[in-house]
Amino acid sequence: MKNVIHICIALFLGNFIVFAQDPVIEDIVTEAQHNSQLERLAHELMDVVGPRLVGTPQMKNANDWVAAQYGKWGITAKNEKWGQWRGWERGVTHIDMTHPRVQTLKGTQLAWSPGTGNKGVSGEVIVFPKFNHYYDFKNWLPNVKGRIVMLSMNQPTGRPNYNWEEFATEASFNAMKTERDSLIMAWKQNLANTGYSNHRHVTGLNEAGIAVLEAAGAVGLVSSYWSGGFGVNKIFRASTEKIPTIDMELEDYTMLYRLAAYGDTPEINIVAKSKSLKAVPTFNTIAEIRGTEKPDEYVILSAHLDSWDGATGATDNGTGTILMMEAMRILKAIYPNPKRTILAGHWAFEEGGLNGSRAFIEDHPEIVKNIQVVLNQDNGTGRITEIMGSGFLYASDYLGRWLSAVPEAVTQHIKTDFPGTPTGGRSDHSSFIAVGVPAFRLSALDWSYSTYTWHTNRDTYDKIVFDDLRNNVILTAILTYMASEDPERASNKKIDMPIDPNTGKQKPWPTQKFAKRGEGY
Ligand SMILES: [Zn+2]
Repeated sequence: MKNVIHICIALFLGNFIVFAQDPVIEDIVTEAQHNSQLERLAHELMDVVGPRLVGTPQMKNANDWVAAQYGKWGITAKNEKWGQWRGWERGVTHIDMTHPRVQTLKGTQLAWSPGTGNKGVSGEVIVFPKFNHYYDFKNWLPNVKGRIVMLSMNQPTGRPNYNWEEFATEASFNAMKTERDSLIMAWKQNLANTGYSNHRHVTGLNEAGIAVLEAAGAVGLVSSYWSGGFGVNKIFRASTEKIPTIDMELEDYTMLYRLAAYGDTPEINIVAKSKSLKAVPTFNTIAEIRGTEKPDEYVILSAHLDSWDGATGATDNGTGTILMMEAMRILKAIYPNPKRTILAGHWAFEEGGLNGSRAFIEDHPEIVKNIQVVLNQDNGTGRITEIMGSGFLYASDYLGRWLSAVPEAVTQHIKTDFPGTPTGGRSDHSSFIAVGVPAFRLSALDWSYSTYTWHTNRDTYDKIVFDDLRNNVILTAILTYMASEDPERASNKKIDMPIDPNTGKQKPWPTQKFAKRGEGY
């Protein structure tokens, strides 16, 4: 679309004052502010479709819902198969303490956990004693037969640090931290003494250790991966073959732990219904608004669609998903004949290692060599506060030019870092950076993402900040419009990589990694 130069006019749009020269930009802002579909999209994706673990029927529902939604807006979209994964369907989790008194406990089975029957499994819970040596562990192992093993350490407090900082005396806060540090050290040492320690986190043994417990006749495993906030746990996957693995919230886990440690012989019943399914196909959903002047050049909006399934994946990455959908809706309505082709890539299995975006790159060399820019969003609900140049030398030229068209009400929050350095992981922009495509992360304000919502049991609709998302829709739609219209191709010239102080040699540009397309994980 040709730019129409207007004399600067101030438009009062809600709390936005836009000194606009371009009616397309004015219309994008108006549509985003006054006809937002974000709440409905969030409801349908988070509340109705729900969590989007790859391999589950809900993930396929999500692919179908995204494609159907685009269809309603007159945007072409398709599900592209790129692999297959272990199939699984989550059912009811219900956990009760039955001795020394009755109490229903809060927890959930981990992804891909083996299921139980209707009556579940019952047993006394057992905690690790002190192991001074591998033989202590071996001698203790027969005790797990018929019992439910507590895998995680007993946290000394369920209050987050910020709460201690606010109310504790300095002396008691310091004493708590010292105690906790020594408990963590002792816990890790104890696990190391079993010969099966998991160095990656404090929640339990490694996979071989889990297999040993299972082989010794444990009937269930309970972990508690506290995320450092009130009532919040990280929920990942089980690695047991036959017995259920559940994560229990800190309050109930520590109570059970104390009961066991004091000799009160607590017993619990775990009903964890789930179904293992055959391998199921895995899809990216790709939407397209075809370009008119340069249809073989691409502006790509990027956000992974999959999630972990301890909650509904609202901020990881429901918000990135509906941001890109809403930007596409507005662009189709206001800018239906873009100069370049605009794609939205809703990738599957970012959580398993950026697999969907890597597969797309491998499968579409003809697109990859003609990408103008990739804009990826994947760190929560907040307004965008940082854009980094990913190590592309001239990123400031074109991103700066595109950003200058965005209302100041949006850009005033954004810090830029040009040319920056390339990222090798974290999210799907890195898949594109590795193959030399200008790809950028629209980095959001934190809103307690890492503690409270990222991969947790609390990543739900109520945490979404819609005003910040609307701000991001305006930013993304205008950047996309500007990138599409730009007479120039965005330069993909890289910086000279900095010297690694450890080796004295130049750091390498991140290398391309290939998608895992198989059933295993
Ligand atoms: Zn994510």
